Amino acid sequence: MVAKLDTGGFEVSMTEYDAVIVGGGMGGLVAGSLLARSGLKIAVFEKSGALGGRAWSRKSGDKIMEGGTHILPCADRGEMAKVLCFLGIDVNIIPFEELLIYHQGKLQSDRKLISSNEAQKEVNRIKAEILTMSFEQTEALDNVTFKDWINERVKLDETMAYFTARALVFSTINDISELSAGELLRRMKKWIETGIHSGIVEQGLVSIYEAISSSIENDGGMVRTKTRVNEIVIKDEKVKGVKLKSADGEKLIESKVVISNPPVWEIFKLISEDNFPSWFVSMADHLRKNSLYHVIGLGGVMKKPLYEGHKYVSVIDSPINHIGFQLAHPTNFSSAYAPSEGKHIISGGSTSDKEFSESKIESIKEGFSEDIQTIFSDYDWKKNCERFMAVSMPNVILDGVHRKPHLVWKNKPDVRAPKILGLYFVGDTVRSTGAGMEAPFSSAFRCVNRIISDWKVLK
Ligand SMILES: Cc1cc2nc3c(=O)[nH]c(=O)nc-3n(C[C@H](O)[C@H](O)[C@H](O)COP(=O)(O)OP(=O)(O)OC[C@H]3O[C@@H](n4cnc5c(N)ncnc54)[C@H](O)[C@@H]3O)c2cc1C
Repeated sequence: MVAKLDTGGFEVSMTEYDAVIVGGGMGGLVAGSLLARSGLKIAVFEKSGALGGRAWSRKSGDKIMEGGTHILPCADRGEMAKVLCFLGIDVNIIPFEELLIYHQGKLQSDRKLISSNEAQKEVNRIKAEILTMSFEQTEALDNVTFKDWINERVKLDETMAYFTARALVFSTINDISELSAGELLRRMKKWIETGIHSGIVEQGLVSIYEAISSSIENDGGMVRTKTRVNEIVIKDEKVKGVKLKSADGEKLIESKVVISNPPVWEIFKLISEDNFPSWFVSMADHLRKNSLYHVIGLGGVMKKPLYEGHKYVSVIDSPINHIGFQLAHPTNFSSAYAPSEGKHIISGGSTSDKEFSESKIESIKEGFSEDIQTIFSDYDWKKNCERFMAVSMPNVILDGVHRKPHLVWKNKPDVRAPKILGLYFVGDTVRSTGAGMEAPFSSAFRCVNRIISDWKVLK
């Protein structure tokens, strides 16, 4: 039993948990589900009205709305697939049959990026080198740019175009000097070993949150939305529980372990900075200042699809706007994405380090229509596009998506907090690998493994 606390006037819950998770984003839900399956008594508290955090996804009747294109970069071979398999959750992830890459004025299948024998030999030699790299060798390259790494190895333009397209395929930046060589090489090694297996969830990401949340409850855990954690209670450098704010008032919940899922720098809203070593505070501050992007989300309703089939388009350097953007036709994958019968939607987006002005958004929007018309020259955009909009989202955290030098793996805090026994982190702002949502999933695996190996000390 945990000793009774000085509650400072708060109502004390009679329930004591093994682990409380602050936040019901991908990372928090996955960590919660794995711990609940391991037999721990857990509770997840999410401050907003819905689960999923930044991976926003909602149901409206039998239709789905996603707050992004929400492609899963490693759909059936990655960390998410492992979790779903372990929990026995069956969701249909529809794989891309083809990735279309627009680069240097050409739209082509990623399988056809190389045509000459010499380039193929050069690509094979570099791939062989990537395959033999250890984790430590990639870690040593975390703060090196991918451009510097690849420049040293490539002689032919065709090979350079191949690796540039491969590096930028799931990002919206168009410059390989903005990507960490270490993180990219870890990812490429996996792609060479298993192939790129990306896809879209047939019933939306929301179906995954619902399934994971049910799994937690079936394993005896609790998941609550509209419940904000106001404070993580620490005594003698040890976690004691959390103070909550919900519609029913304020409560103190006792717990041996607390896992924090919000971006790691937000921990200082819940625990005073004084409880952490100064290197940790500086590290979190460095991430806070450098992890924000300005996103421009693009969406359109079309009378006719731009292309048929389960394909995904990655534009590395667009012909008119000269930006990188991603584009998908979710309605080609599932009719649940359609606003109404017979309509087709496209969704996509781009990002910038600087906030987009109103006039810039207008010009990107117009340029984007022209970009699409140029890329899909047989398509009549004017005739077939019923509605098209561009939405600006300033200050969005894209840690797992844009993996910049100095902002990956060794520059991030580990999943176990320093100095405070029982405090852990999950999410894409702590040590994790993989593109996009793979990052919170991989951090959750590390976090759960660490808790299980620390359990003797914690309980
Ligand atoms: C616009 C956009 C598009 C994206 N597109 C893709 C994509 O196509 N493919 C892909 O793989 N990835 C994509 N990503 C990345 C992916 O969404 C994120 O990597 C992932 O959702 C991060 O999950 P997380 O668990 O780390 O954190 P979060 O999602 O940030 O979860 C943290 C949770 O904690 C909650 N919280 C915070 N404070 C408290 C508190 N005090 N008490 C209780 N709860 C609290 C928050 O409300 C939130 O729900 C995209 C991200 C964005 C922003």
